[in-house]
Amino acid sequence: MNIHEYQARALLKAAGVPMLDGDVASTPPVAEAIARRIGGKVVVKAQVHVGGRGKAGGVKLAANPGEAADAAERILGMQIRGLTVHKVLVVPAADISSEAYVGLIMDRETQRPVFMVSPAGGIDIEEVAAKTPEKIRRLPVDPTYGLLPHQALALAFFLYKDFAQVKAAAQIMERLYTVFTHNGCSLAEINPLVTTPDGRVLALDAKVVIDDNELFWRPDLEELRDESEEPPAEAAARRANLSFIKLDGNVGCVVNGAGLAMATMDLVKYYGGEPANFLDIGGSSNPEKVVNALKIITTDPNVKAILFNIFGGITRTDDVANGIKTALAQFPVKVPIVVRLTGTNEAEAFRILQGIGMTALSDMDEAVQQVVRAAKGAA
Ligand code: GDP
Ligand code: MN
Repeated sequence: MNIHEYQARALLKAAGVPMLDGDVASTPPVAEAIARRIGGKVVVKAQVHVGGRGKAGGVKLAANPGEAADAAERILGMQIRGLTVHKVLVVPAADISSEAYVGLIMDRETQRPVFMVSPAGGIDIEEVAAKTPEKIRRLPVDPTYGLLPHQALALAFFLYKDFAQVKAAAQIMERLYTVFTHNGCSLAEINPLVTTPDGRVLALDAKVVIDDNELFWRPDLEELRDESEEPPAEAAARRANLSFIKLDGNVGCVVNGAGLAMATMDLVKYYGGEPANFLDIGGSSNPEKVVNALKIITTDPNVKAILFNIFGGITRTDDVANGIKTALAQFPVKVPIVVRLTGTNEAEAFRILQGIGMTALSDMDEAVQQVVRAAKGAA
C-alpha cells in the first residue's frame, strides 16, 4: 500500500526524524493560509503516489503566500503519470547545501531489510545505481539485532565528513529503521536528506510503502489508504475480498487458489497468450465472488477472452457455475468465456452451464489452448 508524502512524514516525525513542519491543502486559498502561517519562502508539493514529482512540475518554490496560492492553483488537478493531484503539501523552504539519499527496502534475496545510502541524493536512486554504482552503499540488517550503532555510523560516514552531521545522520537511520519495522514497510526512504548552510541535517521528502500482508496487525494504517490513487479494479477487488493483480495481457483469468492461478498463468504463456490478471477467488467461493470477479475483469478493455479454471475441493464447482449464470443475467459479457472445471459437484455444474448454453471442459490444457486462440480472435 502506497501512502502520501505527508502521511509518511507523520510516521517519520513521530519517530523523531528532523524535518520542517507543514500542512496539506486541497484548495489554493488554504495553501495560501498555510504559507502565511509559516511565513517566508515555502515549497508547494503535489501529493500523488508516484516519484519524480519534481521533474514533472509537481514541486514549486513560492516566495510569499500569493505565490503559494498560484503554485497550488497550477499543481492541483495536474496529472502526474496518470494520477490526478487532489492535495498539496505546503512546507517551509529549506536552504540546501547538499542532498543525499537514505533508503530501506525489504530485500527478497537476503530476506532482510537492506539500507541503501548515497551522497548523490535528490535524483532517482535507480539512475545513480545505473551510472555511478560506486556512490551507493548497501547494508543488509540482521533483524535479530536491528541496526547497530557502529553500522549506522559507518553508513553515515559514507555520506558526511563533519562528525556532528555523521552523528545526526546515523540517528536518522536508526529512526528510519524503527519506522520501517514498526509499520510493516516494504520501503521507507528519505530523498533528499539535506544539509543546510547552518549545518543541520533534515529530511525533505519521505516515501513509505506498507506491505499489504502486514496490515492485519496494524489495521490503523489502513486508514492511510487513498483509493483515488489506486487502479479502480484493484480497489474493487480488495473490497470484494479477491486477490487480484492487474497485468498487461488480454486473457482474463478466474481461478481458485493462488497456486492454481500461478500454474494457469504459466500455461497461458506457454501456449502463446498473455494473462490480463492474476485473480484468486479463494477457497470457499460463493456465487457472489464469481459475479464480482467477472465484473472486475470485464472493466479491463484489454481483455479479449476469459478463462475460468476451477479445481473443485472446498470450492464447489456448482457454486461457480451459478455465479457465472447470475453474472451473465446481470450484465453482458462481450468476450468469449472458456470454462474448465473439475471436482466437487461437477455434474451439477455442467448441468447449470448447459442450461445457459455453455459447455465446460474438464481438461486444463485444452481449456487454456482454447482461450488463447479465442483471445487471438481465431476461435
Ligand atoms: P520528488 O521529485 O517527488 O522526489 O520530490 P522532492 O520532495 O524530493 O523534491 C524534488 C527536489 O526539489 C529536491 O531534490 C530538491 O532539489 C527540491 N526541493 C524540495 N524541497 C525543497 C526545499 O525546501 N528547498 C529547496 N531549495 N529545494 C527543495
Ligand atoms: Mn524526492
